[in-house]
Formats: sequence, C-alpha cells, structure tokens
Amino acid sequence: MKAKIGAYPKDRQELHKILPLETPLAIDFHLTHICNFKCNFCVHSTGIANIGGKPFKKEAMDWDLFELFVEQCKAFPDKIKTISLAGLGEPLTHPRIADMVKLLKQSDKFGIVQIISNASLLTPQLGQALVDAGLDRLKISLQGLNDNTYYRVTGVKQSFNKIYENIKYFSQIKGKTQLYVKIGDISLEEGEESKFYEMFGNICDSVGVEHIYDMWETNDVDVSAVVKPTTKNCWGYEQREIRTCRHRFTTMDVLPDGTFVLSGCHRRFGFEKNIREASIKEQWNSDAANKLRISMLKNGRAVDPVCRKCQFVTMNWHPIDLLEGHEEEILQRMEQSK
Ligand code: SF4
Repeated sequence: MKAKIGAYPKDRQELHKILPLETPLAIDFHLTHICNFKCNFCVHSTGIANIGGKPFKKEAMDWDLFELFVEQCKAFPDKIKTISLAGLGEPLTHPRIADMVKLLKQSDKFGIVQIISNASLLTPQLGQALVDAGLDRLKISLQGLNDNTYYRVTGVKQSFNKIYENIKYFSQIKGKTQLYVKIGDISLEEGEESKFYEMFGNICDSVGVEHIYDMWETNDVDVSAVVKPTTKNCWGYEQREIRTCRHRFTTMDVLPDGTFVLSGCHRRFGFEKNIREASIKEQWNSDAANKLRISMLKNGRAVDPVCRKCQFVTMNWHPIDLLEGHEEEILQRMEQSK
C-alpha cells in the first residue's frame, strides 16, 4: 500500500507557543448548507431547525458574498494555513465550486485549500476543473463499500461503484492535488476494513478509518444510537477531559449567508455579525472574541454549560495542541499584545 494512514499533518507547531493569533490558523468555510445525503449521524437526518440557537437555512453562498470574503481575508497579516470548503453541506453541490477554488488560490492568502466531500457528484469533468483550479487537497468521506450500506447510512440510493470509478479516475488526473479517502467506522460492515485499504491504499496519498462521534450534543440533538462505542478519539488517542478548548483561539467559520462564527463548533456567543456588517478581521480580533478566549484560559470550559457537554473538543484533542499548563503564559502574551 503506498498511501499513508491518517491525515493528521506532521508539520504542526506546538499550539501554546504561538498563541494568541492575529490571523486564524483555519477557516471552515460553509459555502453551502445544501446536501444530497441525509447521513444518519448528521444534522441533515435529524430535521432540526436551529443550530447554535439560530435557524439552520439550507442555502448556498452567492458569488458577490464569496468575493467579499476573499477580499476581507487579505487584511490578515499572515496567510491562513488551511481553508476547508466543507461544513454542513456538500461542497460539490455548489455550481461555482471550481471558480471558488481558483479565486482562493489566486489570492495567495491560503496555505492549503481543501474540499471535504462525499464524492457522489465528483464527475471526471468536475475533477479536472478542480485540479486545473489548483485545489491542494481533496478529502473524501465514504459512507460504505456497497450500495446497501450507502442506503443505510445516507438514506439515499447511491451506486458505490460509480463513486469508486470516479475516485479512481481522479487519482489518475490529480497532478499535485493530494487525495485523502476516509470511511467512518459505522460505515464498515464486519471484515470490510481490509477491503477498504485494498481498494483505496494504492490510489490515494492517504487513507483512514475514522471514528464517527456525536457532535450534536451541544445542540440537544441525540445521534448516539448510531455511533459505535470507543475509548479512542479521532486521532487514536484515549479520550480524556480537556480543560482548555483550543478552538476559539485557532478557528473560525463563515456560513453561507455570511455570518461569522468563532470556534469551528457551530456555537454562537452573541457578538457575531454578518461579514457585510463587520469585517472578518474586525470580528476575529474583537474585544468580544478576546474576552471569550480569556475566559477559557482563566476558567476552563467546565464553567460554560454548552462547552461542558461538548464532545468536539475531547474527540479532537492531540498532544501538540494542548493548552493545559500554559494558560498563564498565553494570558501574559495577550496582555502584552494589547
Ligand atoms: S468546548 Fe466545544 S462548544 Fe465550547 S468553544 Fe470549544 S469546541 Fe466550541
């Protein structure tokens, strides 16, 4: 097998040494909230009307707003390390996805431009357009290795063979674009793990079986019935308590209607505005955002009723990102940078 196992980047810096950040490390960019699947672990299968206390609207971003977003990102002093075209919709449903990748690359403001997709709409033509646009990484989430599992997990009829053929074609034309194919543990039938590695191990740059967890608890949605019990987290480490959440220091989202969201966890804190009203940089470096960061350092997440039950932070923890034991030094640097 030529592919590496897993997708955790090896070039990460120890997070506590580089905080606070004037420029976010990562942007989760929700170019659409429309999805062609209704996966049984995802909010699209639950029919909930609100996320983070706000209406969950199934809409796609318009081009003018996208251009404004790219323009505003240029105001940050550094490059944004990774932008993920993903979120709560399927990015390949957006009719201008390849144009978006092209503009992001042309801006030279983003280190890695990646798409996270279910690949059901990945035709040879679209694959070529994404490669030509300069896409750095395509991450594909499979929901099974046969049509029956696809139906069980996604709720729609889907030809797995068609998806497989299109991924194989993409692997032949991808040039410098990195290809990562992963499958959720709940989408593998008994004994299928080795079949997954046989099928994808030689056509991808990296492959992985990822644990699907319940990330909707903070929105009072319970999908725990479909999740497999495990003591490990996404990166293979034992799950453990995390006192100090890193996400509000590193990550932000922009939703299809232009709403700024801090933390990458779909949580709203009350200060967030549409980027048409207040720029991304202004909101990222606002007093309100910094107050939330200071509160996390001083009090930990347990004092916050939503953060307290959040699994996102425990399921994603990695030793290189831990802030515990470094809160005071980060607070001092935040004070000095005022
Ligand atoms: S603990 Fe969870 S809900 Fe709270 S800021 Fe971190 S990721 Fe968001």
